[in-house]
Amino acid sequence: MFVQVALALPLSEPFTYRIPSHLEGKMDLGFRVLVPLRKKIVTGFVVGITATSNVSNVKEIIDPLDPYPLFSGEMLELAKWVSEYYLCSWGEALRAALPSELMLKSEMYVKKRVKGQASESYPESAKKLSPKQKRILEVLQDGKERKLSWLSRTLKVKGLYADLYDLSKKGEIEIDQRLGKPGVRIQHEKMVKLKNFDDTEENLELLRLANSALKKKSRAQSKCLELLIDNKGELPWKILTSQHKVSASSLKGLEKTGLIEFVSVEKIRESDWALDLPETRPVSLNEDQEEILENIKEALDKQVYSPFLIHGVTGSGKTQVYIEAIREVLKDGKQALILVPEISLTSQIISRFKANFGEKVGCLHSRMSAGERFDTWRRVRNGELPVVVGARSAVFSPFQNLGLIVVDEEHVPSYKQDDPAPRYNARDVAVMRAKLNDAAVILGSATPGLESYHNAQQGKYVLCQLKERVEKQKLPHVKVVDLAQERKNGNMSFLSSDLSSLLQDRMDKGEQVLLFLNRRGFSTFVKCQDCGYVEKCPRCDITLTFHRTDFSLRCHYCNYQKKAPDLCPKCESYRFTYRGAGTQKIEEELKKSFPKALMERMDLDTTLKKGAHKRLLSDFGRKKFGILVGTQMITKGLDFPDVTLVGVISADLGLDLPDFRSKERTFQLLAQVAGRAGRGKREGEVVVQTYYPKEWTIKLAASHDFEKFYRKELEQREELGYPPFNHLILVVFSSKSLRRVTACAQSFSSVLERSVKSVKQKSVGILGPAPAPLSKIKNQHRWQLLVKTKNIITVTSLIRKILEDEKNAKKKKEVRITVNVDPMDML
Ligand code: ADP
Ligand code: ZN
Ligand code: ZN
Repeated sequence: MFVQVALALPLSEPFTYRIPSHLEGKMDLGFRVLVPLRKKIVTGFVVGITATSNVSNVKEIIDPLDPYPLFSGEMLELAKWVSEYYLCSWGEALRAALPSELMLKSEMYVKKRVKGQASESYPESAKKLSPKQKRILEVLQDGKERKLSWLSRTLKVKGLYADLYDLSKKGEIEIDQRLGKPGVRIQHEKMVKLKNFDDTEENLELLRLANSALKKKSRAQSKCLELLIDNKGELPWKILTSQHKVSASSLKGLEKTGLIEFVSVEKIRESDWALDLPETRPVSLNEDQEEILENIKEALDKQVYSPFLIHGVTGSGKTQVYIEAIREVLKDGKQALILVPEISLTSQIISRFKANFGEKVGCLHSRMSAGERFDTWRRVRNGELPVVVGARSAVFSPFQNLGLIVVDEEHVPSYKQDDPAPRYNARDVAVMRAKLNDAAVILGSATPGLESYHNAQQGKYVLCQLKERVEKQKLPHVKVVDLAQERKNGNMSFLSSDLSSLLQDRMDKGEQVLLFLNRRGFSTFVKCQDCGYVEKCPRCDITLTFHRTDFSLRCHYCNYQKKAPDLCPKCESYRFTYRGAGTQKIEEELKKSFPKALMERMDLDTTLKKGAHKRLLSDFGRKKFGILVGTQMITKGLDFPDVTLVGVISADLGLDLPDFRSKERTFQLLAQVAGRAGRGKREGEVVVQTYYPKEWTIKLAASHDFEKFYRKELEQREELGYPPFNHLILVVFSSKSLRRVTACAQSFSSVLERSVKSVKQKSVGILGPAPAPLSKIKNQHRWQLLVKTKNIITVTSLIRKILEDEKNAKKKKEVRITVNVDPMDML
């Protein structure tokens, strides 16, 4: 028998291996196996089993890595879809579905051969060594065995394979391939247990009796017995010896009496990410929520694929609807998955799910340790955790009987993985997974992405709306401040006079304030500091990118270019350069202006440490400080009733990004930020500072007019052929050599153009190639190509073909090419 094994290599079809006789009949689809690959040993996944094979020279698989298959048929199918849609190999897609620590790989070890053992069959003349080989032998002189990675480091060269194999053929060194250590293992813990313990009064009486006899013999043993009785009959060995100072010899003595035994149990690593905020009280849904829930219940009963989009303003009770829907799913003995965009949101939402579903909830996200993730993953697979709350990759959680998937804040770009492959969007994979499982899927957001909203309009999703906040609180009043006017009035600070006086007011009243700065500032465009003017591409409606090398402004979609002006074309100011302040700078300035105010900053720097998020948010929730200054992290999901003012330092940082979604992003951001104000009894207020007070995105955000924004934006998208009216495929080329990058991008583009013509795909638009918006990162020049198409599968398969040809041409891999299907972030 033969198996087809998918390996996590780019552009690789599954390889065929023979099943060795001792494993005959024991292999199944979904097994994780070790297989030889050229001179290495790697992890792969069984995706096919066949009786015959027409491949010559088939090698045998080495061993399965687990006693059971890790992937169900459904997961194999889902991964296959991911690989086809997002243009990667099946193995790469499967790799993404596992905790990364489960991918074993061999490492190469080398050692100098002891003299006299050298193979004599080699003629002396052929033993001439290259200078590189001589250096290798020199560092191996001490006879120690070394890893390949050590050699590369020591010699500061890569690509030693050829020389090493040559050296081994010449009998100078020995090479060994050994499996690397697994990144994680099942952890065991030694437990001390009372034998046959039960806590009936009878049994306890007997134990007390035994204890009083023991007391005379050994105080230490008696103390230990008491501890065990008090702790339901068992305690970890470690706790007894370290915390309670019971010695190992006392424990062994006690074991001899026959009262206790030592057992090893699987230990589950779990970190507590829930915030310790006040308990959530039970709620009964209001009419609007009830109606949506009825819809969902009906779908759950039918057990057919049913997608919902819940569009509900912040605080309208969406999460409560998810909770009730999950209750239904659990009643039917099925499982539910909740995806949340970022860890900063996870903590608050997890505490709500924990409050409702207790021990049934597991979480999966990248901030957990490898061990915690692995253990949670296994418990989900065993059916012990029917509810999982997790970030992006949790969409691949190993459920066996999935009934519902919720994607909260479905519009958020962090659902998209940009690197490495698979470059998938977890929201779209979630919809596909629901389809494969005949399950329900709920996408929820206060500001749905245009793609999802369009899908709902087209009848692909059932649109549900929650138009009011739960307690009918009004949406906050939004004041738009014109920064150009502030500058004219001589105020050069980042706080407008309006925002500054409102801040003072809230401080006096003891209320709380959020100040928000979009730190994704983009320093490679030019913006007038006086009037806010920015140059845009006349064809693509995106901001032009500034190139210092030739003082040009370029469009990174279509490569339109012009000379950068010296003076502002609109107001003739010479202050026509970009400047931006970070959160830290703002915090410093604030401290000067409001020396008595208590404030904290929340951004990447202050939340690096595990638990820092939790602490900051808990403290803010308990009103330990009044002003929270932060980046994106503070805009979503948080629910603090005493926040009555939200300030947006600059709405323009988003609008100026050279991305066709810049308006959508800005609108979403402003709506989310506004949603943070006035969640309690008092009404909230929002101040938005901008150079574009007349821009419709800002005006419509200020008046909370979602429908109108969507309509207008969809019109524009249609006109320019952007999503949702076309799919986009972004191809990025990068290399140390600018010449090679441009040449590669240009030839790729013309080959693609030809193959598009040959299959008569009329509606495919190729934009560029052009320099990427960040045209040089870490010494790598980057160019890109943008493809617009309605027919994604046809075009990706054309691209796959070009990439394969390129690979087969055995060109040196000097230009890296990555393909991103449906990119969410164009930078
Ligand atoms: P969203 O997810 O739309 O932001 P939530 O579900 O978090 O809204 O609801 C906002 C607040 O209102 C939460 O504190 C929640 O506990 C409360 N809430 C939700 N639904 C109800 C209800 N039917 N009755 C009373 N309170 C509710
Ligand atoms: Zn100007
Ligand atoms: Zn353009």
